[in-house]
Amino acid sequence: MKAHDGMYIRGEWRPAAGTGTIAVVNPADEQIIAEVPAGTAQDVDAAVRAARDAFPGWAATPPAERAARIAALRDAMVARKDEIAETVTAELGTPIGLSQVVHANLPISVAGSFAELAGTYAFEEKAGNSTVLLEPVGVVGAITPWNYPLHQIVAKVAPALAAGCTVVLKPAEDTPLVAQLFAECVHEAGLPAGVFNLVTGLGAVAGQALAAHEGVDLVSFTGSTAVGRQIGATAGAAVKRVALELGGKSANVILPSADLAKAVKVGVANVMSNSGQTCSAWTRMLVHTDQYDEAVELARAAVAKYAAGDPHDPASRLGPVVSAKQRERVRGYIDQGVAAGARLVAGGSEAPHPAGYYVAPTVFADVTPEMTIAQEEIFGPVISMLRYADEDDALRIANGTVYGLAGAVWAGDEAEAVAFARRMETGQVDINGGRFNPLAPFGGYKQSGVGRELGTHGLAEYLQTKSLQF
Ligand code: NAD
Repeated sequence: MKAHDGMYIRGEWRPAAGTGTIAVVNPADEQIIAEVPAGTAQDVDAAVRAARDAFPGWAATPPAERAARIAALRDAMVARKDEIAETVTAELGTPIGLSQVVHANLPISVAGSFAELAGTYAFEEKAGNSTVLLEPVGVVGAITPWNYPLHQIVAKVAPALAAGCTVVLKPAEDTPLVAQLFAECVHEAGLPAGVFNLVTGLGAVAGQALAAHEGVDLVSFTGSTAVGRQIGATAGAAVKRVALELGGKSANVILPSADLAKAVKVGVANVMSNSGQTCSAWTRMLVHTDQYDEAVELARAAVAKYAAGDPHDPASRLGPVVSAKQRERVRGYIDQGVAAGARLVAGGSEAPHPAGYYVAPTVFADVTPEMTIAQEEIFGPVISMLRYADEDDALRIANGTVYGLAGAVWAGDEAEAVAFARRMETGQVDINGGRFNPLAPFGGYKQSGVGRELGTHGLAEYLQTKSLQF
């Protein structure tokens, strides 16, 4: 894995305007593995100019040709999928098996889905005596987080390219290496110069400069609610389009008729995967009072299988969290849970390893809905188990946070689960363990965000309409 000491702008790697650098740290052993340039407003400006210059040509490129370029980008990622997995494991710390299956393969499949959509989407429609043209919004400023570093890049860049938009990407400072690898894939795929540009840097410097740049027509952001709010305000003041994919505190609702053992086991796996750093993770498990004690024992047994350790050791099922800052945040939440009177069933804030940013897989029982650990996004391997008295109570608890990104419902039959899911204030619900679908719209109700990613809904975010009347 090699780090570039420049930015990818106008189809080439060029030196950064400033001399600042960002150290990339392997969270499993705390060693510095690379340094990348810390971009400034000057780099962002050069990248936005390149994207603006490239926009008219790319917007006018026939959709079939755009589809072919995105397919070539997908193929370039396929050719380097082992390198992608190794890079994500090195900078994020995920067990290598998970990096291969999720961090490498998921973005490949998402890129493939947009290659297909670009070629088949109806960029023109009829409405009475009008022809409605669906045209690209323009230059996209994409700001991405570190938790699914390549997936979140592809979930923005691929639909933007399919729509005919050009892009400036500012990836998370913790995981810039896989973003650089992605830029190499773009280059290999033969996209015209300036259609995709990469500026690495700090959020408060490069990210803010990108969000505020007047040459950007749409800001697409994934990350914390605090930063999202700020970006939304900046975009609103400039009357600029904005898409926000923010946090979550999703509920895993286990109805009394469900297969309890399966629901608890899959629920634990859902949170432990990626060390709990998944915005849609079902971090609140809701169980009927009569089944609560049994569920707690099942959760204790399930979580014991998540051995934390070296991401390259096949026995490790849990890697570290991404950074020292993130580890301290998560431990702080665990201490708050104990102080508030929740019962620690497994784990705790003690470090399970002397080195690396590890957090022990943690389960809290006797959590009540108003506790901080039941309300705020922890973003670590921590589950809160809550009890409910009846379905209405379960619904009140499930809907009782500011978030609404995802969730799960388990019941003896699908219709019962679907009836409950219809009443949930959330953007996605998995019924009896339904699989992740990269074509389904992903995004939040309430403070989990604005807009949708993936599939046709994700593509529509990058389009605007023009009606011609006849
Ligand atoms: P963050 O919101 O600070 O960072 C996300 C991205 O935004 C990064 O690229 C960052 O550089 C950039 N950024 C930061 N400040 C900015 C600013 N002022 N203007 C423009 N861009 C800016 O998130 P984080 O610090 O990496 O994580 C903090 C918390 O955010 C996590 O604990 C978690 O709760 C949440 N989070 C959610 C998601 C999600 O997918 N919904 C992803 C990552 C983090």
